[in-house]
Amino acid sequence: MPPCVLLNADYSFLNLVDWKRAMRLMINDKVEVLSYSEKIIRNVEGLHIKIPSVMKLVKFIRTIYRNKVPFSKKHVLIRDGFTCAYCRIQTPELTVDHIIPKLQGGASTFENCVACCRLCNSKKGGRTPREAGMALNIKPRQPTISEFIRIRLMRLGIDDLLQDICFR
Ligand SMILES: [Zn+2]
Repeated sequence: MPPCVLLNADYSFLNLVDWKRAMRLMINDKVEVLSYSEKIIRNVEGLHIKIPSVMKLVKFIRTIYRNKVPFSKKHVLIRDGFTCAYCRIQTPELTVDHIIPKLQGGASTFENCVACCRLCNSKKGGRTPREAGMALNIKPRQPTISEFIRIRLMRLGIDDLLQDICFR
């Protein structure tokens, strides 16, 4: 059984839930169903019930999903889609570059760190992009947990489904 997408009342992504939890939320009037899957189950009275594929909470809830993702090199690479911020090459062989180098006081933060291929990293050395004459092709910023889940959903193809239903 495919998981059901649960959205917050403002249509932001909340979670993936299994069909049993989806049914409980429906029965308790906690959600509005936005679309149904092809799957049908039979309940105890023998009635056929469609399984929802996307639901939205009736009441908005505050969640951890708005919280910040903790800084790590791995998280910088995920945020940047494993793409070099300078030459835009996509490779698993990436390092993390401090835009303002550590030796010049640059911090290890999401705002100051980007994914960088080895070639660009050695070309840049201990310099700022301006000093090295290199163009930074992204605006690095702090990601939220919600954004990270969205990146994961895009890989799974569920994001297309959400776009179709909610963000037309
Ligand atoms: Zn590069």
